[in-house]
Amino acid sequence: MANYFRGNIQAMSGYLPGEQPGDDGFIKLNTNENPYPPSPKVYAALRKAIGASLRLYPQPMSDDLCAAAAAAYGIKKENVMAGNGSDELLSIILRSFVAAGDRVAYPVPTYSLYDILVEIQAGVAVRVPFSEDYAMPEELATQDARLTILCNPNAPSGTLVPLPDIAKLARAVAGILVVDEAYVDFAASEGASAIPLIQQLSNLIVLRTLSKSFSLAGMRIGLAFASAEIVAGLHKVRDSYNLDRLSIAAGAAALEDMAWMKRNAARIQRSRQQLANGLKRLGFQVYPSQTNFLLARQREKNLKPVYEELKRRKILVRYFDAPGLRDCLRITVGTPREVRALLTELAAIQVQ
Ligand code: PMP
Repeated sequence: MANYFRGNIQAMSGYLPGEQPGDDGFIKLNTNENPYPPSPKVYAALRKAIGASLRLYPQPMSDDLCAAAAAAYGIKKENVMAGNGSDELLSIILRSFVAAGDRVAYPVPTYSLYDILVEIQAGVAVRVPFSEDYAMPEELATQDARLTILCNPNAPSGTLVPLPDIAKLARAVAGILVVDEAYVDFAASEGASAIPLIQQLSNLIVLRTLSKSFSLAGMRIGLAFASAEIVAGLHKVRDSYNLDRLSIAAGAAALEDMAWMKRNAARIQRSRQQLANGLKRLGFQVYPSQTNFLLARQREKNLKPVYEELKRRKILVRYFDAPGLRDCLRITVGTPREVRALLTELAAIQVQ
C-alpha cells in the first residue's frame, strides 16, 4: 500500500490499551476501573437527559459540568475545561503547546500515552528516569522543555510527589507544567492535589478524570484546571462539542455527590492495604501506593508467565513489556472478594 501517512505516524506504534474482554467471567484488575458503581444520582441525571433534546447539540463548553466542577473544587468556572476523558485533554494540551522538535519532559516509567502524544506532534520526548524509590528526579526541572508532565500519583508505580515539590517544579520549569491527577482521590491525604496552586502559578495545568474515583470510565469525562488565559487558549483547540449531552449530565451529577465518591475511595484504600499485605506475604515487593492499583515486583524475575497464568484462570492484571517493568505486575484494587480471589490464585501459581 502506498504510504500516505506523515513519517512519524508511519513509524510509530499506537497506544496499547489494557484488554477489555467482552466475557463477563473475568475478574478485571487491569485498567484501574472502580469496582463499585457510580452514584445513583448519575443514573437519575442520565434518565432525565434521555429524551427529545438529544436531537440538539450539547453545550459547547460543557457549562453544567464546569459549573459543578467549579463548585466542587472551589475555583471559578473560567478556570476549568471539560474533556472527553483526560486523554482528550492531554491530546489538546500537546496540540496546543508542542510543535515539531519541541521538548516534552516527564519522569519514566509513567503513563505510556505521553510517549504516543509526543510522537504524533513530532516532538522530542525527554524521558527522565525515576530513581528506584520513585522520588521526583531533580533534573526534571532543568530540561528546557516546552511542556513538562508529572503524573501524580504516578502510574504504574502508585507513588506520590508531595505538593511543595510540585510548586517548586512549576516555578523552575521553562514552560508549562501538567500535573496528571487521575488517581489523586485515592491518596491518603486530601491535601495532595495541586488544584489550589493554579491561583498562583500561571504555567500550571492540573488534570482530573471521573473514570477512576467517580466510577465513570464508560462515560469519558475529564477536567483541566488552569489560569483563565490557559483555559481560553485550550478552548480554541478542542472540538466544538467535545462532550455529549449524557456525559455532561452524568459528570455534573457525579460531582454533586462527592460523598459517594469518597466512600468508595475509602473502601478501595482499605482493600489496597489487604492486597498489599497479601502480596508481601507471597514475597512480592510492593511500592507504597496512593492510587487504586499496586505495582508488585519480584526483582529480576520476568512476570509475564504469571500474568498469562492468571489470565488463564480468568483474572486480568497488567503486565508491561517495557524496560524496568518486566519483573512487575500492576494490579488494580478490586473488591475484598476480588482481592482474595487474586491472592488465592497467585499463591497457587507460585507453588506450581
Ligand atoms: N492519566 C493517567 C495516568 C491514566 O492512567 C489514565 C487512564 N488510563 C488517564 C490519564 C486517562 O483517563 P481518562 O481518559 O479515562 O479520563
